[in-house]
Amino acid sequence: SIMPATLSAISNGARHGILFKGGVHLENLSHLKAIAFDKTGTLTKGKPEVTDIIAADGVSGEEVLLVAASIESHSTHPLANAIVHYAKKTIDKAFITPERMEDVPGWGVKATIVEDEWKIGKASFVGLDAAENFSNGALEKMANQGKTVVFVQKNDEIAALIALQDVVREETKKAIDQLKNQGIYTIMLTGDSQKTGKAIANEAHLDDFIAECLPENKVEHLKKLKETHSNVAMVGDGINDAPALATANVGIAMGEGSDVALETADVVLMKNDLPRISDAIELSRRMNRIIK
Ligand code: ADP
Ligand code: MG
Repeated sequence: SIMPATLSAISNGARHGILFKGGVHLENLSHLKAIAFDKTGTLTKGKPEVTDIIAADGVSGEEVLLVAASIESHSTHPLANAIVHYAKKTIDKAFITPERMEDVPGWGVKATIVEDEWKIGKASFVGLDAAENFSNGALEKMANQGKTVVFVQKNDEIAALIALQDVVREETKKAIDQLKNQGIYTIMLTGDSQKTGKAIANEAHLDDFIAECLPENKVEHLKKLKETHSNVAMVGDGINDAPALATANVGIAMGEGSDVALETADVVLMKNDLPRISDAIELSRRMNRIIK
């Protein structure tokens, strides 16, 4: 049976936009030592916008953008949506239908158009050396600003670089500072590059971050974190985050997250309101003192 104090804490939480799928999760929050966060859509708004397109010599930026958007229109990734949105806004031409489109989670997308093989994704997806040679310092500069850089490759040549900027949520810093004041270690797990990860982690005041994290690696990192910090929460919004949410002692989903994330989580932040996490921890610590 559920204790009256627990019941009242759960309904108090619900009134303040935090949903507990059971008293045990509220109890677990009081023992929390570390919280891992997904980046895109969790610490950031998850609505990236295209800021720069750098095309190779002799290549039309508009043409590359049209092809990239045509391929990305078959992906649901937030970066894909941003590229499609930008192309529709800036080019007045119909999209091309790609053949053999393949979505490679954590890396990018690839497709064939007529005779050409196209790849759009992170530097290591198109070849790290080629990507670094192509951008000649621009990659580093944009990544240091927290931008995500994706490359468009046509056959074996890099045709363009597309930079996208996603903004850190207004309340992220406050949420992280509060958790740190409560003695909780905060870490970000992202599939993005080392430099972009570092810029966002600094801006968000996180203790630490792990970049270039493949979807399957998030679970591994979480298991390690459980070994070092015993009681760990994971906060995420995406389909890719669901396995990590399930692995954590407490899985926390953003209210606007994907259905899979919402179903897998133990706790839901109904209004995406990150500072509610430390309120909930405070509530659970107080509740435990009343019960014991
Ligand atoms: P995150 O963990 O930051 O949400 P993902 O694991 O989804 O990121 O993707 C990691 C990286 O792979 C992205 O930063 C991007 O460079 C590349 N990527 C993944 N999907 C796509 C896509 N549809 N189009 C372009 N790049 C992509
Ligand atoms: Mg996300």
